[in-house]
Amino acid sequence: MPKIPETLAPRRTTRQIKVGKVMVGSDHPVSVQSMTTTPTTDIDGTLQQIAELTATGCDIVRVAVPTQDDADVLHIIAKKSQIPVIADIHFQPKYVFQAIDAGCGAVRVNPGNIKKFDDKVGDIAKAAKDAGVSLRIGVNAGSLDPRLLQKYGKPTAEALVESAVWEASLFEEHDFHDFKISVKHNDPIVMVKAYRQLAERGDWPLHLGVTEAGPAFQGTIKSATAFGILLGEGIGDTIRVSLSAPPAEEIKVGLKILESLNLRERKLEIVSCPSCGRAQVDVYTLADDVTAGLEGMTVPLRVAVMGCVVNGPGEAREADLGVASGNGKGQIFVKGEVIKTVPESEIVATLIEEANRIAASMPDA
Ligand code: SF4
Repeated sequence: MPKIPETLAPRRTTRQIKVGKVMVGSDHPVSVQSMTTTPTTDIDGTLQQIAELTATGCDIVRVAVPTQDDADVLHIIAKKSQIPVIADIHFQPKYVFQAIDAGCGAVRVNPGNIKKFDDKVGDIAKAAKDAGVSLRIGVNAGSLDPRLLQKYGKPTAEALVESAVWEASLFEEHDFHDFKISVKHNDPIVMVKAYRQLAERGDWPLHLGVTEAGPAFQGTIKSATAFGILLGEGIGDTIRVSLSAPPAEEIKVGLKILESLNLRERKLEIVSCPSCGRAQVDVYTLADDVTAGLEGMTVPLRVAVMGCVVNGPGEAREADLGVASGNGKGQIFVKGEVIKTVPESEIVATLIEEANRIAASMPDA
């Protein structure tokens, strides 16, 4: 296993819980999750999406269970999925028992909702404990208890935390402790404050999320900003980036956030310059073409794509592979040495060929 470089802070110490075969907590890597967008009753479509998510690097997948028909197909989905499945249930205890029996790795369910409509919290805690299934309490600004909304006027960080601690107590009074908590808000500032406060209140593993973060660009920025702050402080054990975009995009963003913080081994990393008036090549196209050509590469590889000879040779030399462009040519560097100079038209193909050659020589290629 390659050594993972230094992180910004040690992980906050939490209890460890099991989501199927994935452990969640401070002794284990921060996991990345997403949620399917297909109707869960569309078994083939849902399994297809789960397969795509798995191939993208997703660790855990959540499926919505709004109806009895959805609950009825959980056993097939949980059995055929390659990664643990979490059933997302809001009010119906019946579906929770079904999800536990179906082999789901975890259930997202708020005991507060269950208590209000049909108090089966104790039975749920017992069934989950007997089956070794964990739960998630998901406090969300959009569905905060009206009592707390009234007390705080709006879903503040304090309101989210009070709700979460109360929900947690409902499981704890039944001696059930295998759960993680999320306190999501669409405003990264409120969200960060809420998680910081919650982290002080108990050793629960925390599921990070900026809820309803928006379309891909905005949602990526909001999530990366908030997660970066929290994970940089050691807070957060599993993450879900919420984007109005296909779920596989959420996984790509989540993994890149973790890689950027050295919480996952960095895979392909393109170091490309922003271009400027000195550029002697179309840096944007070059960087895009190299990125596209190396998509799917699973080994750690740093590739520098630089527009001129000012910073080009320096960055190219520091990378595993690089190009410093100029005068219609590209100097190709491998591990700090110039191995050849090629015409501009051959830069992309040469970089891709060299990258594949280096990747093939790596032990885990
Ligand atoms: Fe400009 Fe050259 Fe730096 Fe790229 S490497 S930003 S072209 S000075």
